[in-house]
Amino acid sequence: MNNKYDVIIIGAGIGGLVCGCYLSKAGLNVLITEKNPRAGGCCSGFKRGEFYFDTGVHYFGGIKGGSLEKILSELDILENLKVKFIEPPLRIIMSDLSIRVYSNQFDTLKEFSNVFKQEKNNLKLFFDYILKENFVELYSEIKHCTFKKLLDKYFLDERLKAIFNILLANIGLSSDQVSALSAIALFRQYIFKLGYSMKDGSQEFADFLVKEFKRNGGKILFSSEVAKILTKDKSVDSILLKDGRKYLSNNIISNVDATSTFSNLLDYKTDMSIKISTLKPSLSVFSLFVGLITKDLNTIKNKLENLLICSSMDSKKHFLKNNQSDFDDFSFILITFPFFSEEKTGNKLSLTAHSLVPYISKEFWSLNREKYSNKMFKLIKKYLGGLVNEVVVFESATPVTYEKYTSNRDGAAYGWETSLDQIKSHTSPVTTEVKGLYLTGHWATSGLGQCGVPGVAISGRKAAELVLTKLGKIWPYGLIKM
Ligand SMILES: Cc1cc2nc3c(=O)[nH]c(=O)nc-3n(C[C@H](O)[C@H](O)[C@H](O)COP(=O)(O)OP(=O)(O)OC[C@H]3O[C@@H](n4cnc5c(N)ncnc54)[C@H](O)[C@@H]3O)c2cc1C
Repeated sequence: MNNKYDVIIIGAGIGGLVCGCYLSKAGLNVLITEKNPRAGGCCSGFKRGEFYFDTGVHYFGGIKGGSLEKILSELDILENLKVKFIEPPLRIIMSDLSIRVYSNQFDTLKEFSNVFKQEKNNLKLFFDYILKENFVELYSEIKHCTFKKLLDKYFLDERLKAIFNILLANIGLSSDQVSALSAIALFRQYIFKLGYSMKDGSQEFADFLVKEFKRNGGKILFSSEVAKILTKDKSVDSILLKDGRKYLSNNIISNVDATSTFSNLLDYKTDMSIKISTLKPSLSVFSLFVGLITKDLNTIKNKLENLLICSSMDSKKHFLKNNQSDFDDFSFILITFPFFSEEKTGNKLSLTAHSLVPYISKEFWSLNREKYSNKMFKLIKKYLGGLVNEVVVFESATPVTYEKYTSNRDGAAYGWETSLDQIKSHTSPVTTEVKGLYLTGHWATSGLGQCGVPGVAISGRKAAELVLTKLGKIWPYGLIKM
């Protein structure tokens, strides 16, 4: 059996898969090992009878006009991807206020200017500023600034600031803590380029990348958890699976949580193994997956838009601390309909609700899972009560569930917290101090923060570029525009 590869990638999250697609397309002999029986990590889904649910990712920012479009085009696979377009992709409800986010910045600006008439000029200036062509200029101007400082500079209306703040749920940190650069990267790459999701659910995206990777000759092993990354003279040499199988390579890319990579997988301690314990992961998520029989799908069709519902304008309540034990209720919920297609579902409807929550402890979630499932369902019914006729599926995922299925520290939804301090110190870049070891995914930082699928796809592309260059191959694609 040939057990030597040009490159081994540990983990089939989107970062690992994108990286694998680039490297296999370049003709390298690549192995991906994934601990779960299917690919995707946070971007996957599951079925219960006729109901399908996305476990994590629901929107794909940047599929049109963004970095994901460029990446999928470079991989020659954009045209084959089955996407669906939702316009507007999101409606935010906050006390007496209702506002929509559109799939492009122009319509979003129009909507925001209509709702916040007094701030119309400021909104135009703000949008122009954060969408400035020259990102490098922007970078040098605000690299030491929080997003709140920027919001305070442009706006007076606290409700408008609260709307921008809640959109940071897509990054997991409030405006007074998040680096302005990370927030702006989120708006440029994601919020202003929303509107697309996968036609058959988010699992489809991961499966699609697996298919392309295999078509290029890549090999993927499922249900194959890596136990150790073995080194020789501080250079990577091989991986050892939990079941004892061993595969050799001088280039190993970890798509696994960075704490796990440096503290558990790597066979010796580095400076990073020590530094990592002082860094903070982003918040996790509590999710409810509900399969419903609705009364009459036709009459409620216009209600089925993705909803971000906030019961409070107070950002401290939206973005709690990971060790916060006095967490009591959800201050916002995001409701999505992952698989709304009348011809397929009849009067059956899958609904998923998420909220950011602290990890707290295994005991806390084991004791309180049911309580919070019921609290979340109560909120759903408050807004969408008319939908529900009969509940067929009722399941939840806590931070402990996300930790179990992805191995992300504390079930983190977005890798490292993108606070000003952590962004400044280039927390854990794609290149590491161990020869031949690279990171990809939302724990591989770029100085801008991670921002979901577009961010991890960029990190997968970066890791591929570094490995190809190391192996003396040409990187034909140039830089990616922010
Ligand atoms: C509930 C939720 C909703 C989200 N919604 C969105 C959204 O709508 N849009 C968006 O852009 N982003 C969203 N995000 C964020 C986004 O999903 C993640 O940032 C991104 O998918 C992370 O990708 P990754 O490549 O870092 O890998 P991960 O998804 O973290 O995957 C890592 C993979 O490594 C595997 N692995 C771990 N340890 C081992 C081991 N020892 N051996 C082998 N394999 C191993 C895991 O099983 C997993 O498959 C959401 C996240 C969550 C949790």
